[in-house]
Amino acid sequence: MNTLKITPINEMLTERHNLKNAKVKTFEIKHKEYSFYTPCNLNIYMGPSCNCHCKFCFADALNHQKDINDSFFLESLERNLELLEEIPIEVTITGGEPTLYTKRLLMVMDLLKERNIPERTFSTNGIGLMSTFSGKPMLQHMKEHGILHNISVSRMAAEERENKDIFCGDCISNHEIARISEFTKINRMDMRLSSVLMDSGLNSWEKIKNYISFYESIGIESFIFREIVGQQVKIKMEEIVSEMLKEKDVEFLKSMDGIFYTIMIYKRKHHLLKHYIQKEGNRDIVSTLVFHNGILYRNWNGDKI
Ligand code: SF4
Repeated sequence: MNTLKITPINEMLTERHNLKNAKVKTFEIKHKEYSFYTPCNLNIYMGPSCNCHCKFCFADALNHQKDINDSFFLESLERNLELLEEIPIEVTITGGEPTLYTKRLLMVMDLLKERNIPERTFSTNGIGLMSTFSGKPMLQHMKEHGILHNISVSRMAAEERENKDIFCGDCISNHEIARISEFTKINRMDMRLSSVLMDSGLNSWEKIKNYISFYESIGIESFIFREIVGQQVKIKMEEIVSEMLKEKDVEFLKSMDGIFYTIMIYKRKHHLLKHYIQKEGNRDIVSTLVFHNGILYRNWNGDKI
């Protein structure tokens, strides 16, 4: 998936995982050898429930499957983390909407903290981040458990009505987005807004600039834009980036070459612009693991491990 990340210029290294430290190593699991890209991203799919019904939801295909109960979820996660004990992993917490699984989320965060497993990304539409559980907001629980990096809040448009139409559900307001941003800044957590390119939404560089300038005015500094996943890509990141490169003040800084991505890095005004271009990669290398419904897979559509 091709991606554009836009952050303040002073944050050259915004990623949890650094390309320079990434390595491919061989590990044995259940008597079978696998080549892992390390640190390997383990996606923990919290469950299918969501307060929204986006037409582009990549998790949609999984959502019709019956969910498992919390204790089975935790037992099987623990079992699978034991299997991965030797492998350097970082965790992405995703769903569905993870903050709707309060009890499960707190148990998972306890388990990750107990096992000292670092978090890479927390993917949410923001609905439960400021809701209170056991006397404190979910964001406070996350901070105490070391869930600090890439708290990616999905937001498809600056205008609330347009955003609601795209999410087909009960979205948080821009005022709530500003509160989340303030909380994360005070507590030194990385929050960013995450959007997908689509015909009826962010479909040009001009629109992306307007979106950024609105959200910067209410305190958000970091953004990620992606091509749509699991459906035919109609708006290509390449087209957006070629519009972007027509701006006179865009300056190329450097490129970095990884196994799965080439990253082209530019600067413009106070922004660092990082264009991730997906490569064919080596399909034998496991770069993503998915824990879904008690089972560990090689990637979102891959084989069981
Ligand atoms: S908010 Fe996220 S999980 Fe929920 S329906 Fe939309 S894309 Fe799917």
